[in-house]
Amino acid sequence: MRITDIEVIPLRIPQHNVHIADGIQDDVIVRVHTDEGITGIGEADSSPMVVKAVVEAWPSWPRCRGLRDILIGEDPFNVEMLWEKMRFGTMWLGRNGVAQQAIAAVDIALWDIVGKATGKPVHALLGAAFRDRIRVYASTLFTEDPGEMTEVGQRYVSRGFTAVKFGWGPMGRSLAGDVKLVETARRAVGENVDLLIDAGCPFKSREAIQRVHAFVPYHPFWFEEALEGDDVEGYRQLSRAAGDIRIATGEQESALPAFEKLITEGEVDIIQPDIARAGGPTECRRIAAMAQRHHRLCIFHAWKSGILVAATLHMAAIVPDIPFVEYTVSESPLRRELVHSTFELKDGIATIPQGPGLGVELNEEILNRYRMDK
Ligand SMILES: [Mg+2]
Repeated sequence: MRITDIEVIPLRIPQHNVHIADGIQDDVIVRVHTDEGITGIGEADSSPMVVKAVVEAWPSWPRCRGLRDILIGEDPFNVEMLWEKMRFGTMWLGRNGVAQQAIAAVDIALWDIVGKATGKPVHALLGAAFRDRIRVYASTLFTEDPGEMTEVGQRYVSRGFTAVKFGWGPMGRSLAGDVKLVETARRAVGENVDLLIDAGCPFKSREAIQRVHAFVPYHPFWFEEALEGDDVEGYRQLSRAAGDIRIATGEQESALPAFEKLITEGEVDIIQPDIARAGGPTECRRIAAMAQRHHRLCIFHAWKSGILVAATLHMAAIVPDIPFVEYTVSESPLRRELVHSTFELKDGIATIPQGPGLGVELNEEILNRYRMDK
């Protein structure tokens, strides 16, 4: 089997609001085509038009090539080798960041092709099925209106979720305001639900330590992205001061060394690679193994379409120790309708897809409705 083309499709909903931290208001889908008629699908959590450029760039020299140029004519079954070729060929595109995000989209699609060709689900190709279902946490945003937050929290608990995350929005304006947000969130979900708090990187370490101490009465399961990703020293100070509250971070990172540094130098409890940013299943498998080696948790971040939901569920099947994964409850039609999927969600527990490949197919009508390149 040979790769014949890589198609890149940017999507955006008309009501897109750049001031809201909902990353599934736009999207970029890749379709990797083969000479045997099998097509794999993937997506990147990135800027759609920048990913398109990384795939379509012409070759400048051996370490500065577009992904399409690197992959055309290759056998998609060589996933690991192709990942190395993509990494080598995009070194001059930045090594991390968008190059890894574009590689992630293509890598997801390659695993989908191999699964479809062999009739096996992606997690079986990756060599493990520690579970056939996984708890997921409902992931939503803080809002200005406490009444709305209360309604949202209660809604997800009533749907059966046993873990709920609130993030971003007004967090970071004042200590009193932040405590009020966490108090409102705890009241909304009740005492028996795991509450996760995502700050969205507004703090310096001293401010973050103030917050983690002030949040103790509301016993969040974790405090996520309190600091910017490069503030490794700040993460070490925060982790040492955090007591019983776990410190989580890493969704911005895209390559294994950054995650390893956050664990070994930042001393964080939990890293959060996103499979559509951090090099796809090929790299995320290595990241999860690295976290396991350091006796820390790797809990995948996910805030894109059903393609990433499926990829995340497959990866959740191959990690020995993982309590739950993220499940965005965004109402964007790209989140709700872009794929036909084969997994079920009941009482906050998702089944891991068992069909060939990712186990999802694009809804062509939705794809065509929101594509920006027509
Ligand atoms: Mg986050």
